Amino acid sequence: PLVLGIETSCDETGIGLVRGHTLLADTVASSVEEHARFGGVVPEVASRAHLEAMAPTVERALEKAGVRFSDIDAVAVTAGPGLAGALLVGVAAAKAYALGLGVPLYGVNHLAAHVAVDQLEHGPLPKPCIAMLVSGGHSSLLLVPDVAGDLTSLGSTVDDAAGEAFDKVARVLGLPFPGGPHIDRAARSGSGTAIAFPRGKYDDGTLDFSFSGLKTAVARWVEAREREGHTVSVPDVAASFQEAVVDVLTRKALQACRHHGVKDLLIGGGVAANSRLRALAQERCDTAGVRLRVPRPGLCTDNGAMVAALGSELVTTGAPPSSLTIPADSSLPVTTTRL
Ligand code: ATP
Ligand code: MG
Ligand code: FE
Repeated sequence: PLVLGIETSCDETGIGLVRGHTLLADTVASSVEEHARFGGVVPEVASRAHLEAMAPTVERALEKAGVRFSDIDAVAVTAGPGLAGALLVGVAAAKAYALGLGVPLYGVNHLAAHVAVDQLEHGPLPKPCIAMLVSGGHSSLLLVPDVAGDLTSLGSTVDDAAGEAFDKVARVLGLPFPGGPHIDRAARSGSGTAIAFPRGKYDDGTLDFSFSGLKTAVARWVEAREREGHTVSVPDVAASFQEAVVDVLTRKALQACRHHGVKDLLIGGGVAANSRLRALAQERCDTAGVRLRVPRPGLCTDNGAMVAALGSELVTTGAPPSSLTIPADSSLPVTTTRL
């Protein structure tokens, strides 16, 4: 069956077309540039941009896949969590397409979709696996019984999300928003051991994260250096900050695998695009005898393919479709894979 996936939880209008585990099209229209001057996503601006981008982005996806509206067998949409107004645009559009085409609707969880997308690249996920989702809004460790099943939260951030920390530190360093990719790039010419930044909750025995202390420590360090008249090496600060984040992330991810006797780790979400995280995770997984799966960077950040991937799994496993009256739920818990 051919599944249309619609993602509008934040600032990306993502449209995906998936058949089984095969990705036919993945088109994204982003309003990120409209938000850049505010240093963060403005919900009203995002909603309006989704509304304008929806129909053209769907048409581009159909064209790219070489299919027609009448070929679509099901519509999947992110029902939450995310920005309420942004989600509403996607959910309304998905209902309209499902109703108009006479096909079933699947309202899905954005985080579960970040997990499911890996199947498009690496095939069926082992059951169970541990998933670490790290993005601008989330940092969570999850136990995944299977892609279409309900996920269990093992730990999450107690303050800032990992991506949020990247974005805030980038701002301190005068790098553009969103800062993650810029820190990643700057860090390549710096040293990760130049500055010993604090590693929050490193050894606390939980699977929770904390990044706000680190963010503050970086800001204080930069301020102090500037006050003393020293020049700040952006590459060294970027690399040392990044090292502190990925050290904690990979350590806790492997602790989760060990505690639960699981030998497969999946990393997803926008921060999974980070080159140092990918490298250190691979190194530590090799040492621990854990198999690592990370989707290619374009599938880590928000996209429609991930929603179509989860929709496809639900269709294939015979999950009941959603009602056409489902709400957009901005705080949909990670334990609810579909509405
Ligand atoms: P949600 O949290 O709901 O999934 P989001 O908009 O944060 O929403 P993503 O697109 O998954 O979703 O992630 C964006 C985040 O990922 C931003 O904080 C961005 O800075 C970060 N990011 C992207 N690429 C990199 C990178 N190479 N290194 C570090 N962080 C990155
Ligand atoms: Mg985004
Ligand atoms: Fe996301």
